[in-house]
Amino acid sequence: MSTRPKVKILFHFNFIIFFLLFLPAPSLVTSRNISPPVFPPTTFPPEENNHRIQVMTPSGFKLLLEGRAFQPGEILLVQLEGIESIEQAWINGSGQKFYFFRKNSSPEIKGYAFLGLDGELEPGEKSFELVIQKGDKSWEATKFNLYLEGREYRKRKLKVASKYVEPPEEMRERIEREAEIMRVIFSMVTPDWLGDGPFIRPHSGPITAYFGDQRLYNNQRLSFHSGVDLAASRGDEVVAANSGQVALASDFYFSGKIVILDHGLGLFTTYHHLDRLTVRRGQRVKKGETIGLAGSSGLSIGPHLHWSARIGQSRIDPLSLLALSFPEKD
Ligand SMILES: [Zn+2]
Repeated sequence: MSTRPKVKILFHFNFIIFFLLFLPAPSLVTSRNISPPVFPPTTFPPEENNHRIQVMTPSGFKLLLEGRAFQPGEILLVQLEGIESIEQAWINGSGQKFYFFRKNSSPEIKGYAFLGLDGELEPGEKSFELVIQKGDKSWEATKFNLYLEGREYRKRKLKVASKYVEPPEEMRERIEREAEIMRVIFSMVTPDWLGDGPFIRPHSGPITAYFGDQRLYNNQRLSFHSGVDLAASRGDEVVAANSGQVALASDFYFSGKIVILDHGLGLFTTYHHLDRLTVRRGQRVKKGETIGLAGSSGLSIGPHLHWSARIGQSRIDPLSLLALSFPEKD
């Protein structure tokens, strides 16, 4: 058994702001370009075929980025090796900070982070920066670029009850309040990995709608489908795609009965249109445990499970979670 580190890589956000205000500029800034990797054509659903790139920092830390594809709507699993002397580390990119946490049970201590590429990011070259603060309080910032390939989304026309295209005036306050609750939840970062190994599908039903489908409701309102739909019958059990903590179990206007699971490090999965909730906010759940029964509550045209995933404010394809080997529980 390895011993617990004396310091945690991750600090509260405000604490980092404090550090940024009072510490001198990074002691070493370098620039490094990564040539674009080769991409397979976008097929639905792309299965394995992980892409990996490696970045070496000037003082010899090894950063490994791995994903199903380097495209909008994907999660990248990021590992940082040789971190024994590191106090904290994070990646700046696409307007967000992605924090590393320390994992002890692997043969060597590694830092892990989840990088979310929002589904509507423009393709092309994107700049990122790895910031490392070492034990002696010196800083190192390493810039690197990722080339994001474009991604084709399908176009779909849907007919729904008009109250969902033009919600009644008296519902406006409720809708705004629920959107605000979602923003607050997704802005929280639990500084630990709460999951346990790879993700699983929350229901075995076939996929009936994909992440990113451009939906035109009643020929009036265009929306970006931010999850996948799995065919389900009313009352089917819906299970947790990974271990975590229930961040929300409620009934929302558009989402219907909804569960949001926090897997730590800013990564969340959400389960919409349920018929019944079987968990409560704050509860810890294990991967595969039932969290609710499938249904058609909220903006839905029949029983199905809408499953989605977030990293901070980045909307990612939940199927991209299934292609990566996430760390086991510590
Ligand atoms: Zn859906």
